Amino acid sequence: MKKITVLVLLVLVPLASFAQNKRVLVYDYQPRLEEIFTEPFEVLAIYTKNGKTITITSHLVNRVNGSLEEIEYYLNLVGSNLESAKSIVHNHPTPNRWSLQDKKFYYELKREGFKGEFVLYFPWSKSERHMEKPKAEEFK
Ligand SMILES: [Zn+2]
Repeated sequence: MKKITVLVLLVLVPLASFAQNKRVLVYDYQPRLEEIFTEPFEVLAIYTKNGKTITITSHLVNRVNGSLEEIEYYLNLVGSNLESAKSIVHNHPTPNRWSLQDKKFYYELKREGFKGEFVLYFPWSKSERHMEKPKAEEFK
């Protein structure tokens, strides 16, 4: 049976850096992207190699929702880690490309051991764009 767990962060995660009004869902299966990105704000989805999916949103538009520390925290909760994360996907509610923030974030993820795909999803066209390898000099 498919199961979705809602994590109530203010109880489970007493870290001050985590934003309030945040919703984190843990799926024990891997929903298709069009099932996840149905809302008009940014959502970050992490697919793991052990068949789980985590979604994080702060209900904000045009803002990446998860910090590196949060992502590692939730991956550990589901028995995974950054190195064995399969893909990290987020949407942009309005049509635009990778932001500089996205590129920096991807660079940090790679630096911390992420080897999966970093993907931008466009709900209006149900299409995806995969991050190209960023050039290190862009982030200095
Ligand atoms: Zn973005």
